[in-house]
Amino acid sequence: MIPTKTAYTRPESIEEALATLADGARPIAGGMSLIPMMKLRLASPASLVDLSGLAELTGIAMDGSDLVIGAMTRHREVAGSALVRAQAGALADAAAGIGSPAVRNRGTIGGSLAQSDPHGDLPAVLLALGGSVEVRGASGSRTIAAADLAVGFLTTTLAADEMIVAVRLPGGAGRSAYAKFHRRAIDWSIVGAAAVIRGTTTTVALTGMAAVAVRATGFEVIVNAGGSLEEAARHAGDGTRPAEGLDGSAEYKRHLAGVLARRATEAALAR
Ligand SMILES: Cc1cc2nc3c(=O)[nH]c(=O)nc-3n(C[C@H](O)[C@H](O)[C@H](O)COP(=O)(O)OP(=O)(O)OC[C@H]3O[C@@H](n4cnc5c(N)ncnc54)[C@H](O)[C@@H]3O)c2cc1C
Repeated sequence: MIPTKTAYTRPESIEEALATLADGARPIAGGMSLIPMMKLRLASPASLVDLSGLAELTGIAMDGSDLVIGAMTRHREVAGSALVRAQAGALADAAAGIGSPAVRNRGTIGGSLAQSDPHGDLPAVLLALGGSVEVRGASGSRTIAAADLAVGFLTTTLAADEMIVAVRLPGGAGRSAYAKFHRRAIDWSIVGAAAVIRGTTTTVALTGMAAVAVRATGFEVIVNAGGSLEEAARHAGDGTRPAEGLDGSAEYKRHLAGVLARRATEAALAR
């Protein structure tokens, strides 16, 4: 299908972009989710503000002990960054496994988190790593913790006039890894798991088990009490009610959650 007609601007300053957002425009980053949604008429924004001219929204750097990644940084750059690999292995793993090379060349970290797709890989990674997004809008700046960003299917707590400018991952992130299961290389995760090990504490967050990324608390409680990974894996999906469909039953997805939580934890331990 052909998208409805839309106005388009490509500002070169954040202030200009914020003014356009305040006028009702919708941000477009890599367009990897928004353009297909527009073609299907699931989204028909009257006006788009393209963030790709904003150089200050790209880049990967340390800020004190935190790792900070500009919202417009492409998945390919995140996947290939030695800094990300060293500080947040789970994020490097997840970015490297997104879609295809074409998708990774266009798609951005900020766009993925704003999209809040239940099968998108990055929300679970941000949740497990205890990260946050830095947001700017007409009324100023704020920080949203990963657990407070996504509230439902394709829905976040971002206001319409706000945009994500950066992603912040806390220092001392420990060892981490991401594992996903999908049918073809280009597909989204049916289920995914991000594991982070800090000292003696393991944190695991799951993709595809609810409308938003969720913590695998059943898994975490057993592992953090000294139980075996095998036992913990049996409880990774406790309390979850994943959507059933052509990609599998809830029971199958809970099984996948256990396999992937264990796999990601073993990979993190091996780092
Ligand atoms: C074939 C294919 C396979 C894919 N496979 C995967 C996969 O395996 N795993 C995965 O995680 N993803 C996958 N994706 C999605 C991909 O990661 C996209 O990059 C991502 O969903 C959206 O990022 P984007 O930069 O393209 O955002 P866009 O499509 O431009 O925007 C997405 C949404 O975010 C909003 N937005 C964009 N940037 C900002 C910002 N800075 N602040 C506020 N709102 C913003 C837009 O208004 C829109 O609502 C796939 C996509 C395709 C087409």
